[in-house]
Amino acid sequence: MNKMISLVQEHDKWRSSCINLIASENVMSPACEKFYVSDLMHRYAEGTPFHRFYRGLKYVDEIENLAQEEFKKHFNANFADIRPISGTIANFSAFSGISERGDKILSLGIENGSHVSHEKAGAAGFLGLDVDTLCYDNDLSMDAEKSAEKILAVKPKFIVIGGSVILFPQPIKELKEACDKVGAKIIYDAAHVFGLIAAGIFQDPLKEGADIITTSTHKTFPGPQGGLILGNIEEQTAKTIQLRVFPGFSSNHHLHRIPALYCALREMQEFGKDYAEQIVKNSQALARELFDNGFKVLGEKKGFTQTHQAVVDFEKPGAGHEAAVKLEEANIILNKNMIPGPNQSPKMPRGIRIGVQEMTRFGMKEPEMKEIARLIKETVRDERGIDEIKKDVIGLRSGFQAVQYCFGKD
Ligand SMILES: *Cc1c(COP(=O)(O)O)cnc(C)c1O
Repeated sequence: MNKMISLVQEHDKWRSSCINLIASENVMSPACEKFYVSDLMHRYAEGTPFHRFYRGLKYVDEIENLAQEEFKKHFNANFADIRPISGTIANFSAFSGISERGDKILSLGIENGSHVSHEKAGAAGFLGLDVDTLCYDNDLSMDAEKSAEKILAVKPKFIVIGGSVILFPQPIKELKEACDKVGAKIIYDAAHVFGLIAAGIFQDPLKEGADIITTSTHKTFPGPQGGLILGNIEEQTAKTIQLRVFPGFSSNHHLHRIPALYCALREMQEFGKDYAEQIVKNSQALARELFDNGFKVLGEKKGFTQTHQAVVDFEKPGAGHEAAVKLEEANIILNKNMIPGPNQSPKMPRGIRIGVQEMTRFGMKEPEMKEIARLIKETVRDERGIDEIKKDVIGLRSGFQAVQYCFGKD
């Protein structure tokens, strides 16, 4: 027992002394954490609110219904399913709800930022979907014209956009016309940018013509780990998707998440605009500083980024991996990432993906981003000893320990 206690304590202590820049992570507020730990975590509730297979749910039904309706209202959606316990399960459910084995779909392709669940190796492949890719340029910007032509030629059942590496809004409106012509639905996987969308500072996929949003609830959106599906869809499609969520891809849906999820949405309604605007200011400041220090940063011609992410290309196979390992020694945590272009593999990519959402939540602003860029540069270029850099990282992080933009600050 003691071993486990100390491992968890060491983990917590270490991560609170790190600059955490993994683009898919975040932290919950104290108020959300409080909601997360309750008797709900012991209970089962198969089905939808007020239509259950279990007993003991008179409050659970109200809780889930309240959260579900708030998501519908906030995102102007006629459908919300907040049960998927991960973004991947949201994708499994939505994809399988609107397609059959052998159907063609178009995704971005991993090297252009899609998630593995959109690909042959993941959910789409396991569902027997025939995956081809939309058209991209080398700066992670979709070529709308060529992509529309491809949609007309391939006539997919649906296209899935959004993605895991996403720097700019995607041309939903432009693709919509082609999709309508061939009867293809548009799924926007908002996992990374869901917080920015919720705050109203990024493209609103449903308003721009997407049929369905799938998402994780713990990346820029600072909720508990989980997934959800939103949409403006016909009743029959909605029912089919619900049946994929349960009994399809899970039975129980981890009820303690739900009040925490609701709390995170309410926080976004109160504080989301300031939080999200600061995120984008921060990612742009960090990208700019790295660029000014001689790094190749994607999206240069368009101001580097309009999301929480910045992507650096070290222009050498495996250099992304080496950098990420070294940075971790200095308590800077981020992931290696593929960059559009040749000479790399997922294990030995050329680049790194940086996400500023978590450090923004702890109150960091542009001056701290410049400091972080300096520390990254010093580490990657071997300009100072790792121990010295690590001391600076710990010092910098020590001033940013409390979650901002939330209820229940201390
Ligand atoms: C992270 C991510 C997912 C998967 O979410 P999980 O909750 O980890 O299953 C799906 N799609 C995209 C685009 C993602 O970035």
